[in-house]
Amino acid sequence: MTQPSFLNGKKVAFIHIVGVAYFFLATFGVVYSCIFIAYPVLYIEPKDIQWRSICLIYVFINIIGNYFLGILNKSNYAPGIQVTDPPKSWKFCSVCDRYCPPRTHHCEICKACILKRDHHCFFFCQCVGLRNQRYFIPYTLYVALGSLHAMYILTAYLNMKYVTFKFSIYAILSYTLPGIVYNWVYTYGNITLTTASCILLLYLLFSAGFGSLFLFLAQCFLLVRGQTPYEYHKNIHIFNHGVVTNLTQVFGRFWFLHFLIPFPPNILSKQSILPCGTSNYKDV
Ligand SMILES: [Zn+2]
Ligand SMILES: [Zn+2]
Repeated sequence: MTQPSFLNGKKVAFIHIVGVAYFFLATFGVVYSCIFIAYPVLYIEPKDIQWRSICLIYVFINIIGNYFLGILNKSNYAPGIQVTDPPKSWKFCSVCDRYCPPRTHHCEICKACILKRDHHCFFFCQCVGLRNQRYFIPYTLYVALGSLHAMYILTAYLNMKYVTFKFSIYAILSYTLPGIVYNWVYTYGNITLTTASCILLLYLLFSAGFGSLFLFLAQCFLLVRGQTPYEYHKNIHIFNHGVVTNLTQVFGRFWFLHFLIPFPPNILSKQSILPCGTSNYKDV
């Protein structure tokens, strides 16, 4: 799979900066706005605020942990040695000028061959593939959970502190930029910097929440079928070995633990996980 050539270095760097800024703004914005702004307004009992805050911090740990583990564990194919007599299943990458294992595809943005390439992620600033897909999937799950929960909380907060959500022109316009400015000028404090920030965050969370949910479901769909997006489009099924084996190939034997807490590599599985069909390939 190749990316369109209009993505030159500067554009890619800019999109990566926007992606990372979006991620950190939304993530830290959710934690701050829920724990310090919305929960104390919506819930009276300190216990209600405490257990909700603990749950949100647990989600936050999973998001940040999987994010950094995903970034640190690149899926680039960097063998260090030139393979001159590769197995028949290996193919030649004309850009890198070397043979690569099956399921490896060149990424023009990363400028590298990626093992079991899934897609290029502009939030991770690199490709998702063999070594970091096990972090990307729980990451999308927890981003979706955190975003959808925060949307619910912020909606309830704004409903109470700003303009009631209902199907009226005034209510709908009040949640757009012109409506916010109008309310700021003419209603003398009906809207504060806090409520304006919450509305902005609500927009970020809408795209982050539903986008992540879609990505998570798409990843689960491909995971169960033992395919990458490339193999799905090319209708390739030779790497499908049943749901449990497919899960194990991505996450290791204790696959379910990755959905509870982010684990660094080699803690749950001593052997590095290799792409199916590459038993004669040593990950050096
Ligand atoms: Zn390549
Ligand atoms: Zn890439």
